[in-house]
Order: sequence, then structure tokens, then C-alpha cells
Amino acid sequence: MSATRRPLKSLGQNFLVDGNVIDKIIHAAAIQPDQPVLEIGPGRGALTGHLAERSMQLVLIEFDHALAAWHQDQLKDNPCVTVIDGDVLKVDLDALLSQTPQKWNVVANLPYNISTEVLFRLYDVHDRLARMTLMLQKEVGDRLAAPPDCSAYGVTTVLLGLWFDISRAFVVHPGSFHPSPKVDSVVLNFIPRSEARAEVGDENVFRSVVKSAFAMRRKTLINCLKSAEFAKQIDCNELLEACSIDGRRRGETLSLEEFAVLSCWVTKKLQALSEKAASK
Ligand code: SAM
Repeated sequence: MSATRRPLKSLGQNFLVDGNVIDKIIHAAAIQPDQPVLEIGPGRGALTGHLAERSMQLVLIEFDHALAAWHQDQLKDNPCVTVIDGDVLKVDLDALLSQTPQKWNVVANLPYNISTEVLFRLYDVHDRLARMTLMLQKEVGDRLAAPPDCSAYGVTTVLLGLWFDISRAFVVHPGSFHPSPKVDSVVLNFIPRSEARAEVGDENVFRSVVKSAFAMRRKTLINCLKSAEFAKQIDCNELLEACSIDGRRRGETLSLEEFAVLSCWVTKKLQALSEKAASK
């Protein structure tokens, strides 16, 4: 049967085989009866049956064609379940999650090789989410809670921190999977905030400020910012002076609030420049 074929390392297939951990994830996900649920990478269905029992609508996205076909066959009599045979990084999540007025609960034991990219995709649709319960490699999970100026602090810490309250549910040891990964995993709960943690102006600008600040970890903030797209229109020395931030610092020493101040200033400046151009 396709669901018992050898796990594919290339797809991060470490399947959960520990019933206790499965129960704890389902409990942590706290699915409400009126919530649609998205499971990314259902694999051999360790979580899927529990999710199907608890949700009014369940969408599965599975990149392994054989496993997607297996789920389609298993769940064909359940009209509440849709299986998308595809790559979560290519699916239009905004369009998918906008199909219902209700916000979504996302539950996943993420494939480790793409977990950071998936986090960025989920960040982009934060306003369509009611909650997320995600299993990540512990190192990636630790990054989300890291304070400024430590090596784990990075783009995901700042971006996800803007819109989510993130808490650790529990740690999962390698023996809970088949095959066993080499490292520990962690289950995290992400609760979207009703308001962003700080005013950032245009969120695209915020993303660009944060990504450019972390792009070259050994370089000073001023040099990092100069490589950003907005630096073609904005004087970064003026930006840093206006925001009272020392350009000789490294990007990873800035707090979320300091990134927010930079982003607001860039947003306003770009708006002023475009209004000036329009009035000519
Ligand atoms: N949920 C199952 C469990 O807990 O046992 C499987 C988890 S396994 C760590 C990750 C799953 O994600 C695998 O089924 C894998 O085929 C799937 N996957 C890998 N890359 C994917 C992608 N780009 N899009 C969707 N699913 C993907």
C-alpha cells in the first residue's frame, strides 16, 4: 500500500508514531467545531483522522503524490475533506484560506527542510488564521523565541513576532518518529494578535527592512540597509539619524520595536516621494 512505502528523506518524511504525542498535538490545537482546519503534509495520516473528526472542513496539502492519492481514496466518502496534491510553497494560501468567512486553524508536523519557508508563507496570511499548532525542528522553534543579539535571533523571530503570540507546548524526542530524526522537535502554538505588536507602516516595507538588516550578519546595519530596494530612493544615513539608531550596530541587535520605527519612517518617506512624483 502506498502509505507504507519507504519514507522519503527528500520530503522530510519523519512520520509520527507515538500515540501520546499525537494526542498532545491534537489537544494543543484546540480545534473549535466551527473552525476550518488546514493540515500541511499529512503524510501517513498520524494526525489526519483526529483532525477530520473535529473539524467542519479539513484541507490537506501533500506533496507526495502517492500519499495524496492514498488520502483521497481513504477520505473519499467524507465531503468535509479536500486533498490538494501539491507543494505548499506553490499553493495560493491567501486564495485558499479566503474561501471561508471563518478563520483557519493550521496544524502540521512540518517537513524540516522547508519549515522556515512555510513559516514565511503563513506569516503572509496571518489575517486569515485563528490559530496554528506546528511541530518544528527544536532549533527553528527556539529561533522564534530568541531575544535580540543572540545567534538564534533572525528574520522569522521578528516577522512572526509582529503578528503572533508564540508559546512552546512541548518538546518531542526523536524516538517518537519513524524514521527518527537526529534532533529534537518542538510543538509551538501560534495565536494571532488582534493588533500588530508595533506600528510598522507598510508591511512590505517592514519585511524588506528586516530582511535587509539580517542579509549580511557580519556587516553593519548601515551597509545592510544600503543593499535594500528602498535604498535606491532613500538616504539610509538620514533614515538612521531620524530614528536615532546607530548605523554601526549590526542588524541582529535591533529589537522588533526598532525595526518598526525604521519601517514607519521608510513608509512615510516613500509615500511622500510618490506623492511628490504624482504632483509633477
Ligand atoms: N503529518 C505526518 C506525521 O506527523 O506523521 C507527516 C509529517 S512529515 C514530517 C512531513 C510531510 O510533509 C510528509 O508527508 C511530506 O511528504 C510532506 N511534504 C514535504 N514537502 C512538502 C511540500 N512542499 N508541500 C506539502 N507537503 C510536503
